[in-house]
Amino acid sequence: MQRLVAGAHAFRAQYFAKKRDLFRSLERGQRPDALFITCSDARVVPHLITGSEPGDLFIVRNVANIVPHPTLPGGTAAALEYAVEVLGVPNIVVCGHTDCGGVRAILEPPSMDRLPLVRRWLSQAERVREIVRERYAHLEGDERISAAVEENVLVQLENLRAFPFISERLDRGELRIAGWVYRIASGQVFTYDPTHEQFLEMTADSVPPPPAAPGPP
Ligand SMILES: [Zn+2]
Repeated sequence: MQRLVAGAHAFRAQYFAKKRDLFRSLERGQRPDALFITCSDARVVPHLITGSEPGDLFIVRNVANIVPHPTLPGGTAAALEYAVEVLGVPNIVVCGHTDCGGVRAILEPPSMDRLPLVRRWLSQAERVREIVRERYAHLEGDERISAAVEENVLVQLENLRAFPFISERLDRGELRIAGWVYRIASGQVFTYDPTHEQFLEMTADSVPPPPAAPGPP
C-alpha cells in the first residue's frame, strides 16, 4: 500500500503538474474515443498499450473480457449502455491477452472447483470451449490457450451485436468494433482482420478511418 500512496503523490507532482490544462478540460466532461473492454489482468495496461491520455478510453474490465448477454444484469452491460447511448463512443475494442487465466479456466472447468463465482461468470463463455474442442483439437499447451484467447475475443464481438443499441449503430456505420489480442511477452497488439479471418499484427493503417460525419442536410 505504501507504494501506491507514494505513487499518488508522485503522480500529482509530476504527470499532473505537466498536464494541468488537459485535466482542467476534463473537468468539463468526458468524450472518450473508445469503449475498451479488456481483462482484469494486471499485466494489461490499456493506456500504455494504446498511448492514450486520461479521457481517451472508457474502460470496462472483467475476468476474461466477457460481454454478457443483454438480459443479464451487471456492471459490464450498464457500462456498454452508458458509453454508447450517453457518451456516443465511435469505437469499441474488445482486447484479450496471452496467458489469460480466465480463458485457461474456461478450457479447464475443474480448475474452478473452489471458485464458484468465477465459474458462474465464465459459464457465459462456454461456447469458447466448444469452439476450441471442435477446431483446435490438434493444439496443446500455450498454442491451445492462444487459440482460445482469440476465439474468446471473436465470441465477445458477436455478443456485442446482441445489444440493439450497438447493432443499430453498426448497421448505420456510426460505430466500429475491433477485436484485439495483446501479447504480454512481446508488447505486440494483434487485430482481427475479417478479410483474412485471422489476427494480424497491428500496423499504423490497421484501423480504417472513422465513420464519416453526417453532412449538411
Ligand atoms: Zn485475462
